[in-house]
Amino acid sequence: MTAIAEKYSRAIGSSHLEWRIDPGAIDVLTAAGLVDDSLGVGLLRLRAEFDSISLMPSARHMIPRLKSAAGVTTRLIALIMIRNAGQRPIDPREIAAKLLDHWLSPQCPSCTGRGMVDHPAAVGGGRCTQIVCGACGGSKRRTLFWKHEEQAFADMIGAEMEAKVDAASRRIRRLLNSA
Ligand SMILES: [Zn+2]
Repeated sequence: MTAIAEKYSRAIGSSHLEWRIDPGAIDVLTAAGLVDDSLGVGLLRLRAEFDSISLMPSARHMIPRLKSAAGVTTRLIALIMIRNAGQRPIDPREIAAKLLDHWLSPQCPSCTGRGMVDHPAAVGGGRCTQIVCGACGGSKRRTLFWKHEEQAFADMIGAEMEAKVDAASRRIRRLLNSA
């Protein structure tokens, strides 16, 4: 077995979860010229870097500390500007920052991703009941409080990010499994 093949097979063990791939495996594949360092791969790498240093509910203050942040942010801003094509009065930097924050830490901070919170009556010693979280409406995902048009545009970019990550993830997995 070659050194690279050994690294590939070691990486498989830690890549069983969807979208979670050992950053070392991505480095090996990138160095071998097998994957492009595109937005999808960049997002995977960014998430791996984030996971290795943070368990915090909010990613925003952590992003500048991540090695891949500058490159991924630049690519995402470019994608936002291309897709917007001057049609909406948006701030591409703000949308990119919020999308990356959401990408790294999608959980609603109010209910910590449970979708339910304790009923206020329970605090005063009343019967403990759970009600739907008002911040996320039970979706469990962080709400970004954008204007409707901005939210719809950001949702579209977010879906494209997920599609790129999904494609990059499948490609990397195929390469790892064929090593
Ligand atoms: Zn919530």
